Amino acid sequence: VATAAIVTIGNELVSGDTQDTNAPWLARRLEQLGVSVRLIASVPDELDAIVPLVRSQSAAADVVVVTGGLGGTPDDLTREALAAAFGVGQEEVPEVAAALRARFRRDPEYALRWAWLPVGSRPLENPLGGAPGFALGNVYVLPGLPSEMEAMFDTVSGELARGNPIAAWRRRYRTTESRIVDVLEAVSERHPRVVVGSYPSFSPDGPEVEVVVKSSDPTALAGAAAWIEPALEEAASRP
Ligand code: ATP
Ligand code: MG
Repeated sequence: VATAAIVTIGNELVSGDTQDTNAPWLARRLEQLGVSVRLIASVPDELDAIVPLVRSQSAAADVVVVTGGLGGTPDDLTREALAAAFGVGQEEVPEVAAALRARFRRDPEYALRWAWLPVGSRPLENPLGGAPGFALGNVYVLPGLPSEMEAMFDTVSGELARGNPIAAWRRRYRTTESRIVDVLEAVSERHPRVVVGSYPSFSPDGPEVEVVVKSSDPTALAGAAAWIEPALEEAASRP
């Protein structure tokens, strides 16, 4: 199964001022595309934090998705960080510069900074009209603003698709994990091509556990679901 890492950049994310919604959104979309996410990390707007992480994840994962400031304010060092991670300079991409010059007639100098992409980048169009993103090697760099990030991701999702979507079977039981642990262990042994998760919660009516079984292999998922459903039913109803 193809793997991905997601890196979200922003001081506001690591301070807790803004909740990172980009990473979970991207993780769900990547699963639908058949890509297994191995790492989600947020880092501050600092080259020392971004550069080594992007470099190591670019080597470790099949694809890396980065979101972060692409604007022209001093904290928007995403382009610079990616250039440093790949050991390349930045150069103005003429097509991007021309498009920005035509679109931002009032203050083209500000917008023209957006055209300075790391050497070797492929520009990615921003359908909502902001700064362009870019792809460099196996790294896709998208804007931080969630609406812009989502619209741009949709333009590249086709090229990120790898095989079957990672599909899920899920069900909630009024039970505790201790009652069903044997079933969870058994399904992993019998059906090694699925991944099993159990997520406990406590409602006013008592304990609940959501059991989730995932796989990119539809036959394995169907087999595991057919086995686990009656087994959980029985185990959960034990006194
Ligand atoms: P500007 O050009 O105005 O400086 P920008 O290109 O710097 O914009 P960002 O710094 O990434 O864009 O952030 C734009 C907005 O999106 C901010 O309000 C920021 O808090 C929010 N944002 C950034 N990353 C995330 C994220 N991972 N999840 C949720 N919101 C985010
Ligand atoms: Mg920012």
